[in-house]
Amino acid sequence: MRTVILPLFILGFSASVPAGPFKPSVKQQIQLGQDAAKQLRKQEKVLSEKDPRSIFVRQVGARLVSTLKNKEPWSYTFEVIENKDVNAFALPGGPTFVYTGLLRHLRTADELAAVMGHEMTHVRSEHWARSYEQQQNRDLLLTVIATAIHANSMTANVLDLGKVIAGDLPYSRKVETEADDGGFRMMIDAKYNPQGMIDMFRVLEKEGGKSQKFLGMDLGDHPAVQRRIADISARLAKETMSFPPQEPVPAAVVERQRAADEEEKRKAEKGKGGSKGGG
Ligand SMILES: [Zn+2]
Repeated sequence: MRTVILPLFILGFSASVPAGPFKPSVKQQIQLGQDAAKQLRKQEKVLSEKDPRSIFVRQVGARLVSTLKNKEPWSYTFEVIENKDVNAFALPGGPTFVYTGLLRHLRTADELAAVMGHEMTHVRSEHWARSYEQQQNRDLLLTVIATAIHANSMTANVLDLGKVIAGDLPYSRKVETEADDGGFRMMIDAKYNPQGMIDMFRVLEKEGGKSQKFLGMDLGDHPAVQRRIADISARLAKETMSFPPQEPVPAAVVERQRAADEEEKRKAEKGKGGSKGGG
C-alpha cells in the first residue's frame, strides 16, 4: 500500500489556521509543495531524468535559478510530465512541472524560459500563499484536503491535484501580469531573449487549442492573449540593451518528442477499430 503523506500534513496545517487573515509560512509552502509533488509523481507519468526533454527543462531551470540571489529560500526541482495538455506549473515552494504537450509546441529555449520564469515568479512572490491569505482560495485548500483524504480510493480526484493547486489556480489578472513581469526580468538576467515571451504567447494561441487554459487565461481568447502580448511588447520596447539571438530547442529534444508523438499516433490508430474518434 502506498503511504499518503499529504493528508496528515494538510490536516495539521488546516487545524492551525486561525480565523483571521493568515499567510502560510515559507516553511509551510515548501512542505505543502513537496508533499504535493510527491503525490503527483505517483499519479502522473514523470519522464526519466535522462530523457533529453527532462535534461532540457532542468538546464533552462538551472540557468534561471543561477541568476537569483542566495537569500531566496525556495527549493526548485524541474520535471517533465508526459501529458498532451499545454501546461506547466510550479507548486508552492518550487517543484516545477512542464508537460510534453507544451514542449512539443515550443521552438526556442527562450520560449520555455518565458513559461518557467512566469511560473517561478508565482513561487518567488508567494502568490499561492497570498491568495490563500486573501481568502480567495479557502475552498481551494479544502479541495486539496478532500482530495488527499480519499487519495487511496478516489484516483480520479487525485489526478486533479496538480490542477487544483497549480495549473488552474484562479490567480487574478494582476497576479498573472506580475508573473509575466517577473519572468521577463528573469529571462534578461539569465541572458535569454525576452522576445521569446511574446513568441511563446503567439505560438500557444495558434497551437494550444481553443478551450485550453494556460498561464491564467484561455489560449483561444484572442483579446486576452493580445493584451498580454501588448503589455510585454511595451516592456520590451523600453529596454535599451540588445539581446542575444534566441536558442533553438536542442535537436535531441525535438527528435525524442517526435518519436513519442509517432508512437502515440500508432497506438491511437491501433485502438481506433470500433472506439470513438478523438477530438
Ligand atoms: Zn500564472
